[in-house]
Amino acid sequence: MFNKRVKIKELLTWNPSGQEVTVMGWVRTFRNNQFIALNDGSTNTNLQIVVTLGQFDDEILKRITTSASLKVTGTVIPSQGKGQKLELKASAVEILGDSDPEKYPLQPKKHSLEFLREKAHLRFRTNTFGSIFRVRHSIAFAIHKFFHEKGFLYLHTPIITASDAEGAGEMFRVSTLPFDNPPRNDDGSINFREDFFGKSTNLTVSGQLEGELGATAFGDIYTFGPTFRAENSNTTRHLAEFWMVEPEMAFSDLEDNMNLAEEFIKYIIGFVMENNREDLEFLANRLAEEEKQLPADKRTDMPLLEKLEFVLNNNFERITYTEAIDILLQSPAYKKKKFQYEVKWGIDMQSEHERYLVEKHFKKPVIVTNYPKDIKAFYMRQNDDGKTVAAMDILAPGIGEIVGGSQREERMEKLEARMKEMHIPVDELWWYLDTRRFGTVPHAGFGLGFERMVLFVTGMGNIRDVIAFPRTPKSAEF
Ligand code: ATP
Ligand code: MN
Repeated sequence: MFNKRVKIKELLTWNPSGQEVTVMGWVRTFRNNQFIALNDGSTNTNLQIVVTLGQFDDEILKRITTSASLKVTGTVIPSQGKGQKLELKASAVEILGDSDPEKYPLQPKKHSLEFLREKAHLRFRTNTFGSIFRVRHSIAFAIHKFFHEKGFLYLHTPIITASDAEGAGEMFRVSTLPFDNPPRNDDGSINFREDFFGKSTNLTVSGQLEGELGATAFGDIYTFGPTFRAENSNTTRHLAEFWMVEPEMAFSDLEDNMNLAEEFIKYIIGFVMENNREDLEFLANRLAEEEKQLPADKRTDMPLLEKLEFVLNNNFERITYTEAIDILLQSPAYKKKKFQYEVKWGIDMQSEHERYLVEKHFKKPVIVTNYPKDIKAFYMRQNDDGKTVAAMDILAPGIGEIVGGSQREERMEKLEARMKEMHIPVDELWWYLDTRRFGTVPHAGFGLGFERMVLFVTGMGNIRDVIAFPRTPKSAEF
């Protein structure tokens, strides 16, 4: 029977008074044939287990190696040594699984993140990844809690989609047609009527269009699921498979949208600060150590916990796209030709521009609104100036874009006209346009990149380190 075990995180809160318990976990270290540091993944703090000299066979002791799995029964006593309040005095040690120390890929020493990416199947057993993934779990939980408490309905939108109209990025095709000899039309093009779904299908880039169908019935909905982009952007901020959170609210405008997004981000941060203190402190120290290796001008201004505290306690800056461009044009960086990409009204801001605004100019998260319509999607609400749309992106220090959203165009004629201008197939999206035909309402929503939020909260620098098994160009191991 296994479920009588006590988790180490729980055990460490006890008052040691000779309680008999059973724990299970993996050996981190074994010192002097006497002290086992056992970890069970519930916390980074190992449980010290003391085996009295001469009590166990040498045959057993030899098998207590790094990453071997153990079942240990014993009594909880105040620790004799420094560094821990309590320890477990073992009365029985059972080896559940041996681990050959010669072959085990991780050593009880510091490994680089790059090395651990190649051992992603085992990296959960390190302190860094233990903390990251417990925080990731907490953020996911906080997201559901936040929306549930606000009366939002969790809607599961499809992963396979036949609409490629959203234009959010390159898509992965889903097909069962034979590669070598696909059925063809008379003109030589591939005949997708013969494909599994009877039409051309892809993995979704966003659940938004379906989300709008939900919002125009339930009022407030959110989606939270996997999203795919076949874009070949090998950056520290892009994955081919990532998770996105997309709330959609009926009876809402751009300002409601910004308010919700800001409250949402602060709620997540507050939740993790309250519930994952130990892991955040570990990650803050890790980051501080890493920054010491960097030249002074590459370091971030604030330690992790201060940064989170600061974001929690300050309003996000809100500026229009036009103001953002003006700030960039006035900036010393622009005048000294520090930007690689051109700056002028109409550009899709590059990450260097976004990071200048948040990290150098405002030094806090910034919400940029009212972008030029030509660089944004067809469904965004057209402003009266004829040039801009009611879009809003949230830019975060160290990350760049973390949220992209908008008020949606609820006026049928305007929406149809814009779709035609942008060559979006109006008849294919008949079901989407029905929301505007039958009881249309002002509505708005946004998408938050889940991994970018995890990056922000954990202070990690590469998005491959905050998802369990990253999928990126030329890489789908594990
Ligand atoms: P970016 O300009 O950074 O590529 P985007 O404009 O393509 O972002 P949206 O289509 O608005 O992004 O998607 C909504 C959110 O999803 C973004 O704000 C970002 O947080 C996240 N996101 C977008 N693409 C990726 C990706 N390839 N990997 C991880 N997260 C992503
Ligand atoms: Mn993109």
